[in-house]
Amino acid sequence: MSLIVQKYGGTSVANPERIRNVARRVARYKAMGHQIVVVVSAMSGETNKLIALAKEVMAEPDPRELDVMISTGEQVTIGMTALALMELGIKAKSYTGTQVKILTDDSHTKARILDIDEHNIKQDLNDGYVCVVAGFQGVDEFGNITTLGRGGSDTTGVALAAALKADECQIYTDVDGVYTTDPRVVPEARRLDKITFEEMLELASQGSKVLQIRSVEFAGKYKVKLRVLSSFEDEGDGTLITFEEENKDSEMEEPIISGIAFNRDEAKIIVLGVPDKPGIAYQILGPIADANIDVDMIIQNTGADGTTDFTFTVHKNEMGKALAVLRDKVQNHINAREISGDDKIAKVSVVGIGMRSHVGIASQMFRTLAEEGINIQMISTSEIKIAVVIDEKYMELAVRVLHKAFELEES
Ligand code: ASP
Ligand code: MG
Repeated sequence: MSLIVQKYGGTSVANPERIRNVARRVARYKAMGHQIVVVVSAMSGETNKLIALAKEVMAEPDPRELDVMISTGEQVTIGMTALALMELGIKAKSYTGTQVKILTDDSHTKARILDIDEHNIKQDLNDGYVCVVAGFQGVDEFGNITTLGRGGSDTTGVALAAALKADECQIYTDVDGVYTTDPRVVPEARRLDKITFEEMLELASQGSKVLQIRSVEFAGKYKVKLRVLSSFEDEGDGTLITFEEENKDSEMEEPIISGIAFNRDEAKIIVLGVPDKPGIAYQILGPIADANIDVDMIIQNTGADGTTDFTFTVHKNEMGKALAVLRDKVQNHINAREISGDDKIAKVSVVGIGMRSHVGIASQMFRTLAEEGINIQMISTSEIKIAVVIDEKYMELAVRVLHKAFELEES
């Protein structure tokens, strides 16, 4: 007997028939003798609808009230899933985040999970229930409803799996696994049987939408066995997220590049002509961090004539806020020649563990882009990733030519 957490995304619970389908799969696993915790998203499109409704009343909705609204999508699907299970004669019980007590911090709309009280769920599982838990939501220490950021149900699933010490966390979605890149951009993209946790983390942070990045971080920290599968197919093993040690003695040579991610959600902030002296980076980025704005890439030029240029990227939605912080709180200290923003950019990244032991991956990537006349605006690297910022209009082309250059297509 295993304890399995199954998380179902919005398309998997999009209507009553699909919810019945979820219930039938859960029933099959239950019949094999497993204990099952189900985590569901809202029906697809529902969260967007709720956000739009809020915005009709207040252009920039108050975050606490927005969370009260957008957490309701999942409250509908937990009830429906529990009902569908009962219809199959299975004992089932739904839980909101508050009812479980998924304790989070108080950063509304992007809260972090601090602790999960697994006690009641454990008790119910032992009494033969399937527990159906609302994804995406939690509660802060004062009882306010919080949400975990878009795609946050993945994180609920993995965090619950960690808290319950589950044997496996299965993420059911509308694709049958993790692909070398998005098949909508490159039809030849290939499903990966397995991918290391570190590669998955890079892919998720570079824009692959298959898993919310926090869920991958959680899986890594607590060594949760994670698998991505299709909820529309009964067969298939999906993609297993492995830990590198487990791959060590595999005979096959691992591919050098595992995948290509892209992201159109970032904007570039350019600060030109600031004094080249200690403390400047902190003076620029400190207030940005204090405003709770996430920064991704950061580049500082070598100084010339006592001044230097500073460029960084933030989420597109936060470009206006970041520029306002710089103009209101920073400019009078640093006296930059110019502060500007550009949101017509895209980031394209190649990711692969094999980069550690192979040289020339970066030059191959740059040559491939150069051959298409694509200008690179920013570059950042990690041990297993090379990311470039380019004009957004060349993004799909860049992904296609890189996919081909690194021979990732169906073999
Ligand atoms: N319903 C939420 C969203 O659309 C959470 C999720 O689906 O994971 O972002
Ligand atoms: Mg999702």
